[in-house]
This record gives sequence, structure tokens and C-alpha cells, in this order.
Amino acid sequence: MAKCTTMRDWLDYLQEKEELATINKRVSLDFEIAAVTKLLDGKKGAFFNQVEDYGIPVVAGVASTRKQFAEALDVSERELIARFQQAIDSPLPCEEVSSSVATVHQNIIEGDDIDLLKQFPIPVHHEKDSGRYITAGLAIAKDPLTGKQNVSIHRLQVSGKNRLGALILPRHLYNFYKNAEDTGKPLEIAIVIGVDPIMLLASQAIAPLGQDEMEISGALKGQAEKVVKCKTVDIMVPADAEIVLEGKILPHVREPEGPFGEFPKYYGPKSDKEVIEITCVTHRDQPIFQTIVPATYEHLLLGAIPREASLLRSIRNTVPTVSGVHLTLGGTCRYHLVVSMKKRNDGEPKNVMFAAFAGHYDVKHVVVVDDEVDIFNMEEVEWAIATRFQAEKDLLVVHGALGSKLDPSTDNGVSSKLGFDCTVPLNSEPLEFERIQIPGLQEIKLEDYL
Ligand code: MN
Repeated sequence: MAKCTTMRDWLDYLQEKEELATINKRVSLDFEIAAVTKLLDGKKGAFFNQVEDYGIPVVAGVASTRKQFAEALDVSERELIARFQQAIDSPLPCEEVSSSVATVHQNIIEGDDIDLLKQFPIPVHHEKDSGRYITAGLAIAKDPLTGKQNVSIHRLQVSGKNRLGALILPRHLYNFYKNAEDTGKPLEIAIVIGVDPIMLLASQAIAPLGQDEMEISGALKGQAEKVVKCKTVDIMVPADAEIVLEGKILPHVREPEGPFGEFPKYYGPKSDKEVIEITCVTHRDQPIFQTIVPATYEHLLLGAIPREASLLRSIRNTVPTVSGVHLTLGGTCRYHLVVSMKKRNDGEPKNVMFAAFAGHYDVKHVVVVDDEVDIFNMEEVEWAIATRFQAEKDLLVVHGALGSKLDPSTDNGVSSKLGFDCTVPLNSEPLEFERIQIPGLQEIKLEDYL
């Protein structure tokens, strides 16, 4: 059973483990929240009690290590990927509750009374960002054809009292929106702020169109997510979220959005993007505002874990003896993939590379190693590249494929792909590639000698 059901449960858990820093010093929305969160990144979450004059605390970095995500799910770090894939395979339908018991409906703000910048402490994260951004908002929309909901996260620039500019990449939400826009209609949407790390993780699942990520979240927790119907749109949202913004993506309207500091540690440029108009805001009594500071470990790992789950499955469809995959932090948890395998046939590592590139367009450089190399230890991985790789025969290069548009070295996303086969040749001499060992090293306890 998972260790958290709502964000508040999870914050209590972090506090008990001394992994949540409470900051009582008054902080500014301009960069200060981002700076303090960044300094705590990978160690502790940050809970800011006094943010300017808002009277609403801000939380950031609720999970910034693989260990914390694993603890939230009550599995070991090594079981994390398998557990995630299992939840995608066996989603758990949500349970509807009435508005009267939904804490997120304790307060309702409608129409002209909405003023996002005045009502909520929405930070500015990076130097050249165009302004205040909602970065931890789950965007929930419903497919008008099937009635199935979709959950995703988009960067949301606050452009006015009740107006957001959104980056909507060509995935599921974009598909719903384009279908609506083609008939001249707006698409109803709800933005959910203040949720636990499991729900955030589930929202990033590489699941097929038509699968509701909220049901994956329920499966990960082993407990159905409680949802409530929105006040002004026909969408179900988590009943115990902190804040929900209800609204619509306007058809045939585009307004400037950006620049904005993104996960690859560069700015996404300013351009005309889709616009969301907010029609109603609901929130808990004394809500907590959640933010994700871009390019922190929290942001990177939210991308890595679900991608690793889907890549492991798709690569195994090609080469079943693949044992693990790792999207590395230095590779922005998107571009660099390390794969371990038991090689049974020469040539298989190259098939692994093809499968990896086909598995997700973000994958740019792939390193394939033997099963005994620890793919989560980058010193080991570099050692394998240093001693088991010859460019003449072990290098695979493909030019002109689709990569990430956020990688500034690509030509608007058109990218070269590179693979390193660092596996030992099957016909090598017995001692040639045998790793040196000190007998007894694992059993010796240093305390006995000091
Ligand atoms: Mn989806």
C-alpha cells in the first residue's frame, strides 16, 4: 500500500523523516522560492510559510530523489519501474464523491472575482522567464468522443486576471483541443494544483490515448482516487486537491507565451500559443500552493520514471534479455539512456539501440552495457565506455531523425542519434574482459579493522 493518498499526507510523512524544510523567513515570489528550493534539491522539500503578503504557503520539491518516489509507492528503488508499468496495465477506476464532502470545494470564486496573481502566490522561477508560471498544475480534459479523461502537465504563464498561456505539445490534450477547435468550440479544462507525488508521476505516464492517468494513480496507490465534478465544467477532479482552476482553451486564439526556463536548462522561446480562460476557481480552506522548479531533480525524475517504464517494455519487445534502463540526470532524464542486457547473440546491442530510438523521440544517445554493469552508477557506465567500446565497430550513427525540439543543438528538433555498444564480444578470451576481484571484499566490515 502506498505511503500517501493526498499531498498533505505526504508532507506529514516527509516532516516525520526530516525531509521537509520549513522556511519561516519571509520570501519573495521573484526567484527566492526557486533559489531556496534549488539549494535543497535532491535532499529536502521546501515549505515556505510566509510568501510576501499572500497568507498562502508555497511547497516545492515534494519528491526529488528516486528513493522518495519509491517510498511513496512503498517499493524498493529497483522495483519502481516494474510497479509503474503494472499500474498502467491494471488501472483502478476513480470513485466519485459529492461536492459537499470534497475539500477542494470549500471555497468558490467565480467570474469577475477571479484574479490569479492577487489570489495565489505564483512564483517567477528563472532570470529570463516572461513572468509568473504555474508549473505543477495537472491539466484534466475530457475526450468528447469517448468521455474518457486525460491528465497532463503543461507550463502555464499567467497572462491576466483569468488568462493563461499554455505550451501544449502534440500529445493527448492537443488532440482533444484540435478536435474541438476544428468545430469552432472551446475545450473545457481543469487545472489541479496541490497533489501528491504519485499523482504527479501518474500524470506523466506514456499511456495510450484513451487511458485516464488518474486511474493509473489509483492503481499505484492501491486505492481508488476520490474525484468530484467541477462547478462550471463537465470534468472530474481530485476531491482533496488544494486548488482547481476551471476554464476552457479558446478556439482560434493564440497569444505570446515565453520565454521560459525548461528541463534541458535552456529557455523555451517566446511564441504565440494556446490561451486558457478561467471561469471558476475552487480551493480548500487555507490552501497550499504547489510549484515545481523547472530542471530540478523533481522535474527531471517525473519525466524519467514513466519514460523508463515504457522504454523498458518496448525495448524488451525487441530484445527480451534487456534487464534495465536508466535515463540519466546529466542527460536531462530524457536524452541519455543506459541499457543493460544479457547478450546472447552478436549484434543484439544494435537492435536495442533501434528499439530505444523508436521507443521515444527524445532519446538521443544510447549506451548499451552488459548485465553486470550497474547502470545507476555513472562511474561504472563511463568505465564500460572507456574499456569495452571501439568506435570502428561499436558506434551507431543515424542522422536526420526527430529528436527533442527543446534541445538547442537540433535543427528545430531534427537530430542525429548515437549508440555506443559497450558489451563484451561473445568470442573474447576468458581473462580478457574479466573484471578484477578482491576475494572477501564484500564480507569485510571496516569497523573490525579500525
Ligand atoms: Mn494521456
